[in-house]
Amino acid sequence: MSRRPGFPVRLEGSAACTPAVTHTPAPVQVQVQVGSGSGRPGGIGLDSQAVRARMVQRLAAHGIADAQVMAAMGAVERHRFVDTALVNQAYEETSLPIGLGQTISKPNVVGRMIELLLGGAKGPDGRLGRVLEIGTGCGYQAAVLSRVATEVYSIERLRGLHERARGNLRHFRLPNVHLLFGDGMAGYAKGAPYAGIIAAAGGEAVPPAWIEQLAVGGRIVAPMLMPGGRQALLVMEKTAREMKQTVLEPVHFVPLKSGIA
Ligand code: SAH
Repeated sequence: MSRRPGFPVRLEGSAACTPAVTHTPAPVQVQVQVGSGSGRPGGIGLDSQAVRARMVQRLAAHGIADAQVMAAMGAVERHRFVDTALVNQAYEETSLPIGLGQTISKPNVVGRMIELLLGGAKGPDGRLGRVLEIGTGCGYQAAVLSRVATEVYSIERLRGLHERARGNLRHFRLPNVHLLFGDGMAGYAKGAPYAGIIAAAGGEAVPPAWIEQLAVGGRIVAPMLMPGGRQALLVMEKTAREMKQTVLEPVHFVPLKSGIA
């Protein structure tokens, strides 16, 4: 099996970050409410630890080695985030539709990106500090992040998905997950500086707000359009003097869009 390139693979020069800044309303913060169960059926055997354990074994086979990532993905019940009709595919190595034309990434891609994010500066307890997620979608990745970071700010531009994620996450009672409705291209200044910023949608360049809101020592992990029109995974690391940029493997994410809908 061929292993993907690790990090860091230094590229020449610093990041060029010159996208247009969009002016959209400031995001509204919504604390995930403590509440009763989601009411979503668990599916026969799908809430069993064993199904997730097999998924985690596959992550290891794909080269994911971080124990925190494996523990987090082994714990979060992915089937609670997908449509009832798709529940039996929830732990397969596949991306799945989550409504409004958006998709939840394959487990392998979620694990890979969070592992890259965790390569940045960690707190004394081994966790990342505050993390910003762009593209809440169904809320699955936010739930995984809540287990490896002290605070998770997750922003979604589609009101329908923001509401759906709130419903999905209610079951988990995660006081450190903060769901925001707004345009993630502007980041979320109130939570800054972030130890990590992770995007689940791919743009043409890294918005300047993300770089401004990233702490020194922190990382941005995001899909990005490359010359030629294909997407690749991009990792940026902020040092006291520069942004180091690394381009990794090809990926396929939904587009990063400006504004809210
Ligand atoms: N992490 C998600 C995956 C969501 S798919 C999960 O676990 O389900 C990517 C999401 O990014 C979509 O819901 C899309 O609406 C959202 N998105 C795209 N551009 C955005 C932007 N500028 N701000 C916030 N969300 C955005």
